[in-house]
Amino acid sequence: MIWIFLISLAVGVYFICFKNHEVSAIVVIDAGHGGYDTGAINQNHGQEEKMITMEIAYKIGQAIKKLDPTIQVEFTRLDDTVSWPMDELEDLKARIQIANEAQADYFLSIHLNSSTNTDAYGYEGFIKAEDSFSSSVYEKIASSFEDLSYSQDRGLFTQTPLMVVHEQSIPSLLLEVGFISNDVELMKLDNERIQSALAQKIAQAYVEEIHKEKEAS
Ligand SMILES: [Zn+2]
Repeated sequence: MIWIFLISLAVGVYFICFKNHEVSAIVVIDAGHGGYDTGAINQNHGQEEKMITMEIAYKIGQAIKKLDPTIQVEFTRLDDTVSWPMDELEDLKARIQIANEAQADYFLSIHLNSSTNTDAYGYEGFIKAEDSFSSSVYEKIASSFEDLSYSQDRGLFTQTPLMVVHEQSIPSLLLEVGFISNDVELMKLDNERIQSALAQKIAQAYVEEIHKEKEAS
């Protein structure tokens, strides 16, 4: 009797411990720039790209975990300190290394655009040509940003050589969420409520596409 009880207990504990920790996918979210590298700076107000990408990246990660706790989220950085040397090449290599070490399934890099034409606005994405997963994610993001009446879709590009996209074997999307150089767009990008709304849409796009891919496999 005692053995049956102990075995049942062990099975129960096993299911509670391992079922809840089942990882369906690993997503690495990369907040562009950081530390020594400010990224682009708004010339009128001084906001730095690295601070806004950090806020948006964190919010996306939290939203993904909330939508599906079986999706594991890792970040290349969570604050303004970086774990890599002050060197642009080493910097990018380190971000890819973090994804490799995490054995990530998907990589998302968050950036803000900048132009000498301060009227330029909109969001755009960069992927590898053969990356149909990230392409579908981007389409979902673009259409849900439209529902929010947030800015304009500038398109998805496959030919721009970007290390964090092209030197990864996993699906990788670099998303330029908007233009920090445009004062009107910056007001949105720097607004916590709008950051959360955009992050929620990005998270939804990932979770839906991950579920779709899991169902197909
Ligand atoms: Zn950037």
